Amino acid sequence: MKQTIAQMLSKQVNKELYSAYLYLEFHNILNDRGLQGFAHWYMIQAQEERDHAMLFYNYLHHNNQKVTLEAVEKPETKADTVLQVLEAALAHEQYVTESINDIYEVALREKDYRTKEFLDWFVKEQGEEENNAQGLIDKVKLLGEDPKNMYLLDQELAARVYNAPSLVVG
Ligand code: MG
Repeated sequence: MKQTIAQMLSKQVNKELYSAYLYLEFHNILNDRGLQGFAHWYMIQAQEERDHAMLFYNYLHHNNQKVTLEAVEKPETKADTVLQVLEAALAHEQYVTESINDIYEVALREKDYRTKEFLDWFVKEQGEEENNAQGLIDKVKLLGEDPKNMYLLDQELAARVYNAPSLVVG
């Protein structure tokens, strides 16, 4: 594996762990607001992100590459309302999509088709992540932050069940 690609994948491990940390902070904020269903949604998101990190980690080791584990940054967010949290989550997923697309581009350029195939799962996954994030924004905007509506939506989100990623490496 080309070192440029190994380094990008290694950085992606950190970005996925940061995503988990950011979503844990969203859980923190929303739980504090008494929105346990919204908070639960982000607890599951955080779990998914830890799994994403492990997929990149395992893929690198599967290809005899050592991973450089960097410090995970403090999650910085100015989000205060539910809508602001949801919008920050969408912006973050768009950033992750760009990051994965950048690795994809280099993998194609370097004819690293194994990495390209590995990343195909993430390209699809990012589409789902952005779609889910946008869907929640649309729902909250449609319902407004009316307490009764928020209570019902909160109950709906509380029912989310964790599904481990379908991708397995190694
Ligand atoms: Mg992710």
